Amino acid sequence: MADPEFIVSNGSFIADVTRIVGEENCLTDPAAQVPYLSDFRGLYHGRAAAVVKPSDTVQVAEVVTLCGRRGRPIVPRGGNTGLCGGTAPSAQEDGIILSLERMNRVRSHDLVNNTITVEAGCILQVLQGKATALKRHFPLSLGAEGSCQIGGNIATNAGGTAVLRYGNMRELVLGLEVVLPSGQILSDLRGLRKNNTGYDLKQLFVGSEGTLGIITAATLKLFPERRQTESALVAVADLNAVLTLYADVRDQADEFLTAFELLPRNGIEMALAYVPGLEDPLEQQSSWYVLIELSSSQTAVPLRPVIEDILASNFAAERVLDGTIAVSTREAQMFWRIREACVEAQRLAGPSFKHDVSMPLNMIPRFIESATAEIGRRFPAVEVVAFGHVGDGNIHFNICCGREQSPDDFFELAKPVETIVYDQVAAVGGSFSAEHGVGLLKRDALIRYGAADAVEMMACIKRLLDPGNILNPGKVLALGSGGSKIDERSCA
Ligand code: FAD
Ligand code: ZN
Repeated sequence: MADPEFIVSNGSFIADVTRIVGEENCLTDPAAQVPYLSDFRGLYHGRAAAVVKPSDTVQVAEVVTLCGRRGRPIVPRGGNTGLCGGTAPSAQEDGIILSLERMNRVRSHDLVNNTITVEAGCILQVLQGKATALKRHFPLSLGAEGSCQIGGNIATNAGGTAVLRYGNMRELVLGLEVVLPSGQILSDLRGLRKNNTGYDLKQLFVGSEGTLGIITAATLKLFPERRQTESALVAVADLNAVLTLYADVRDQADEFLTAFELLPRNGIEMALAYVPGLEDPLEQQSSWYVLIELSSSQTAVPLRPVIEDILASNFAAERVLDGTIAVSTREAQMFWRIREACVEAQRLAGPSFKHDVSMPLNMIPRFIESATAEIGRRFPAVEVVAFGHVGDGNIHFNICCGREQSPDDFFELAKPVETIVYDQVAAVGGSFSAEHGVGLLKRDALIRYGAADAVEMMACIKRLLDPGNILNPGKVLALGSGGSKIDERSCA
């Protein structure tokens, strides 16, 4: 039974929210709320007083101000494709889920400055299409691009497959408009490429996972459209050869190198078994493959001979065992489909534990070999699938439920497996979260593996900007101890 006092105060709170966004954009009906009450992976479920869908920045600021006054927690929500539970609602029914979905307009573009200003709810794929229509290229690209939003991409500092050439989302942001927990709007959408007037505040919000402010709009870099692309899928002798090949491609192809992705044989086999319409592209089998992409906005230097020379010299040095260069866009798309199918097949095959780790490049062979050996020794029934953005030092080190294993037995292993993986990552000087962030899932890992002084500084910043702890409480940092004004709100 809900507390009668809460019922009365909640009624007036909902009435106030409704006045700001309109009845149809303040969902209180439990059935209408259902799609918003869990994270993408279904790991966390919770409740909300309302799902609120503002249409502009002023409405966001009014809703945030109201929530601040009434001490109501806010969970910002983009496309809900985040993998660490950042969008998980609170266990209590007192908070709101603030969905940016209606704020999806392109506000302006500037083809001289090569920038575009969009609202936070713009879907990444829609933005890519707008850039193409302007004869420009927006380079952020990831498997969830059909549903993730620019605000979510910024809030998680998304990486993806073109980081080698263009950087993470952080490098693509020139300006932000953010609603602070106080309700104040902090805005700089001028798109300045140089501006050394004190601290670069926008970067504080990039990767802050909805805990410091609500991103409502951003000015982003555009790039010249790509006029030629070469893609090659290559079987490589071993992991050391992968690194030597990478260094060689980097030297030979320099700024043309866009992607260098690692694929394991067992990941390709899973993809072929579970995802229809794929073909094994190479005759020679190997434990490791890489997908290389070169691209250029110019046609003066043809890239085909560049990639052919690289593959030929590495074949002669016995680093490359076999390889094929796409002869058509269709074939190149097939290579990328195999790369994406590796992820999709793991989902279809059964449960898995995902670890999204990074480390200095020269440590990758040591990490993969030793972590795989240790997992195999301790838990022989599971299968390790290690793949990903090897050129960025970022490996998705996933542990899949074995064919002979029951999911219940498998789930028991989550913690010990995580400890092995993260301990080994720490031993090689790496990070336990390269791309996906911390959210709720890796909050304990941040305490255990993060630098204590850095975590304390993050807590100080959070307390300063959000003294009432209303913005995504409990995500990234578990605050509340030590007499702080911030009470931890538990999440289911
Ligand atoms: P959400 O999931 O809605 O939110 C993520 C976090 O950001 C939450 O903490 C939320 O509170 C906060 N947030 C959302 N919008 C705002 C806002 N406007 N203001 C403030 N805070 C906000 N990630 C990568 O980096 N690289 C990859 O290659 C990659 N591949 C993926 C492939 C698949 C198939 C899937 C499902 C996910 C992948 N991801 C990848 C993870 C995910 O897509 C990214 O983290 C993405 O950037 C999240 O965007 P979103 O709009 O879905 O955010
Ligand atoms: Zn990734």
